Amino acid sequence: VDKGKDVPLAMPITVAITVGDELLLGDTVDSNAARIGRAFAELGAPVVRLETVGDEAAAIRAAVARALGDGDLIVVTGGLGPTPDDLTREAVADLLGRPLRSDPDLVAVLRTRFRAGSGALPERNLRQAMVPKGARVLPNARGTAPGLAIEREGRWVVLLQGVPSELEGMLAGPVRDLVREIFGARLRPPVHFFVRTTGIAESRLAERVESLLPDERGPVSLAYLPSVRGVDLRFTVAGEVGTDEARSWLERMDRALDDISPYRYPDEDLAATVADSLERSGRSLAVAESCTGGLLAKRLTDRAGASQWFCGGVVAYSDYSKTESLGVAPGLLSRAGAVSEEVARSMAIGVARVLQADAGVAITGIAGPGGGTSDKPVGTVCYAVVVGDRTTAKTKVFVGDREAVRERSAQAALHLLYRTLPE
Ligand code: ATP
Ligand code: MG
Repeated sequence: VDKGKDVPLAMPITVAITVGDELLLGDTVDSNAARIGRAFAELGAPVVRLETVGDEAAAIRAAVARALGDGDLIVVTGGLGPTPDDLTREAVADLLGRPLRSDPDLVAVLRTRFRAGSGALPERNLRQAMVPKGARVLPNARGTAPGLAIEREGRWVVLLQGVPSELEGMLAGPVRDLVREIFGARLRPPVHFFVRTTGIAESRLAERVESLLPDERGPVSLAYLPSVRGVDLRFTVAGEVGTDEARSWLERMDRALDDISPYRYPDEDLAATVADSLERSGRSLAVAESCTGGLLAKRLTDRAGASQWFCGGVVAYSDYSKTESLGVAPGLLSRAGAVSEEVARSMAIGVARVLQADAGVAITGIAGPGGGTSDKPVGTVCYAVVVGDRTTAKTKVFVGDREAVRERSAQAALHLLYRTLPE
């Protein structure tokens, strides 16, 4: 090793310990483990081991002692409360040989809180003001028990409360700040890059993606994240890799995937991509929905400022309402059926005309669970887009329950709109 040259420092090792009989007995799902896992991965000090122990002082002491064997950062949640089964504070103070002392500032905070709420401070709550000698107090804005951080020979034990909402607040604020302060240059936050896709099945997407990506992917890992709206690809570079190098690897992956552009869109929500496109082109949009019952209009109007380009929507469920409010010909409805590409086209044209929009989208389908036929099974959805005098229509048979079919339908209509809108 060259003297004077920067040797990359090792990433800190985090060990998590969750405390509670309810976790071992299966009464409560250990969601705090997931919260801690996510938070520390994003910070660049990922959890390498996780242990759960019951509400028992000896078990807590033993777990923390084990964790101190290799962990730089030991994160413990649960058992900081005021009840007799909350033993974490005492067990850790004992293990580390740090006597507990009542912190006058914390007592004052507790008294103020209780005066503001129910009145007198119960004696047992005073336990929450006990601080091991030399510990740092991490303020808990969402509850009465503060977090505690204790250093021993360069390793840190961090005690956090078990209530999930309080833990979230602690992780996002005081804990994050503490970890950055202590481990600064040793942290290696992962660099992510997302490719959002829709309209292509996960297995087919995987086939395409694997054939397009270079064989040499260095430190890049890829996760497929499917949902009813599509499949997100998450590329991650984690570990001992500099940010610039990570970016250049990710750019290489991005370029390789040019070929899947029909399925790709830039924003987290496809509705936002469509909105951007409408905003840029100065076009206005109206929607006609049958089986989605307004879901498409909802997604489009989730965005502030939608009134600039969104004219409105019509939820046309019955044949009569399709005829009356959108001008779909009764003959067409009886000939082609309410769930048909012809009717979807006519609904799109109708709503654009009635609401004086430059573009129209329509969805008509069978969300289930009833109403399917052998011709048109549950999940059959027809949707159409009209822009100017050009209409495009499609039919899909979506899988899933009613909710999933509706979500998939709205997403598919947005996808068609996105591909149809001229730049
Ligand atoms: P409190 O001040 O509320 O007593 P505490 O630090 O003592 O906080 P616990 O008493 O262990 O925490 O748990 C408080 C609440 O948080 C309980 O409802 C418990 O089920 C829930 N909880 C504790 N640990 C976890 C966990 N690992 N995952 C999910 N929920 C948890
Ligand atoms: Mg508990």
